[in-house]
Amino acid sequence: MTDPILVVENVSKRFAGRIALENVSIDVTRGSMTGVIGPNGSGKSTLFNIIAGTLRPDIGRVIVGGRDITRASPAEICGHGVARTFQISRLFAEMTVLENLVAVARGRDDRAAIELAMELLDFLEITAIADKWTSELSYGQRKLVEIARALMLQPKILLLDEPFAGINPRLQNRIVEHLHALCARGITVFFIDHEMRIVLSECDLVYVLAEGHVISRGDTQTVRNDARVLEAYF
Ligand code: ADP
Ligand code: MG
Repeated sequence: MTDPILVVENVSKRFAGRIALENVSIDVTRGSMTGVIGPNGSGKSTLFNIIAGTLRPDIGRVIVGGRDITRASPAEICGHGVARTFQISRLFAEMTVLENLVAVARGRDDRAAIELAMELLDFLEITAIADKWTSELSYGQRKLVEIARALMLQPKILLLDEPFAGINPRLQNRIVEHLHALCARGITVFFIDHEMRIVLSECDLVYVLAEGHVISRGDTQTVRNDARVLEAYF
């Protein structure tokens, strides 16, 4: 028996008549690392936007921890323990790294927020950049700060939109280790990527999207050997 913390049920979404997602169903087991891969334009970000509440599906439902959140606002969904990062970094430019983290803390006084922020920077091994302006950061550092900022919400589910895109393999591996550590702490990690390397080696369960459809689902071995996946990619 799996214990799904997140269920996407028969979701479809069109933009001006064009299919972005069609009849997509996904479930994410509590405490797992689950990945979605798919070529560019396959609907990955649309899926995340629907889960996070910034887009509404045309039909279908999204359920988090047994609760139907399909019509909930992004803030309400966040309140139910879902935090996300964006494909394009959205850090506040006129603030330091630490200020960026403290700015998103909810329901804490400043001292508690700073304490949590420093703990997360330490966890991600980026304490040294706490007082840097975000404009001074490298692309890879921004990715880590994005993750730290999402973790400030102390989520049950962490949604990561292409956390490995455009960074070197060493940093990719470091982030993978951090994500495993988060899983070990009981956080459910759900990420999307268009590169197969990490998804197809690290995830408990993988979904493959192509042209808005789930064309394959299974453990890494199953997906790697699925003829439909090879066809979609090559
Ligand atoms: P991916 O993240 O897998 O690259 P997206 O979810 O961004 O794919 O996009 C899926 C499809 O939906 C693409 O054809 C894209 O052009 C289209 N699309 C995504 N967002 C919008 C939008 N806000 N308005 C119109 N079309 C969109
Ligand atoms: Mg995308």
